[in-house]
Amino acid sequence: MTPKILIVGACGQIGSELTFRLRQIYGDTNVIASDISYNNSEIVNSGIFEILDAKDATAMKICVEKYKINTVYLMAAMLSATGEKFPLKAWDLNTESLFHVLDLAKAGVIKKIFWPSSIAVFGQTTPKQNTPQYTIMEPSTVYGITKQVGERWCEYYYNKYGVDVRSIRYPGIISWKTLPGGGTTDYAVDIYHKALEEGHYDCFLSENTALPMMYMDDAIEATVSIMAAPSESIKIRSSYNLSAVSFTPNDVVKSIKKHLPEFKITYNPDFRQAIADSWPQSIDDSHAREDWGWNHKFSLDDITTEMLTNLKAKQKI
Ligand code: NAD
Repeated sequence: MTPKILIVGACGQIGSELTFRLRQIYGDTNVIASDISYNNSEIVNSGIFEILDAKDATAMKICVEKYKINTVYLMAAMLSATGEKFPLKAWDLNTESLFHVLDLAKAGVIKKIFWPSSIAVFGQTTPKQNTPQYTIMEPSTVYGITKQVGERWCEYYYNKYGVDVRSIRYPGIISWKTLPGGGTTDYAVDIYHKALEEGHYDCFLSENTALPMMYMDDAIEATVSIMAAPSESIKIRSSYNLSAVSFTPNDVVKSIKKHLPEFKITYNPDFRQAIADSWPQSIDDSHAREDWGWNHKFSLDDITTEMLTNLKAKQKI
């Protein structure tokens, strides 16, 4: 099956880079980007783009039929920090959009779905070190609740209706092209911007808060490879643990100082500290590595070099 792809939420941090990568692999005309607004001109002007509200089932069906879509990547969501400010909006967007896509697959209109989950599915009672695939899950944020519920529904639609849905529990994603969209791990992107622009960063998490993180290129390759894997190798239909690196704000500071020795940081934890404290510090992703060959490439120092080099080049444009 040649994938004819619709990306929902294509203007966001991950959706935008995914759109470019999938177009590179499958061709421009086979990858339709969509979002609720024109909030990323690079994406809007880069190929076929549709305005689409992920909560509107009818509009989604019309768009899928218009382009004879067989594969949907559902990237639209309200993230952890914003979700705490608008709990019911986060619930509505994150769950309704998933049902619309799952139901299109159940009806046979589309054949394959990618839907991202998150480390936010875990909670205070989850073991924090090397968090296993199967463990206690009591998420305390509305975002985490929507992701856990989503995982259960994905598995249910696979078991009950044979829907080919694949999912990854992304850790915090670090990238330089598009700004992050309101998550608890956003500091690990902001810090590089501020290091170059101001030589100082005021961090909203405390210095020893360890969280699982990943460079965007690794996240995109994971997404592409889980979707390209033969169906029989995808043994987990809720969502796979996925890991690359794990670090604290203090570790990032040390890494940045190798390039910018004068860089300074202050710490002023806000409401996001409690969210971070409820999440794992490191993740056991051995199932992803065994089942579909996942392997990360970027260490923290690699990420720092990539971020500083690319952001510096972007500033000069
Ligand atoms: P983002 O906030 O950067 O982008 C989300 C996009 O969805 C935005 O372009 C927004 O305009 C769009 N959107 C919002 N409401 C919409 C609607 N009703 N209809 C259509 N589009 C709508 O998010 P992201 O960081 O790119 O995350 C993508 C997915 O990955 C989400 O499901 C998120 O939960 C998951 N995830 C992200 C991270 C991370 O660190 N970025 C970590 C774990 C999981």
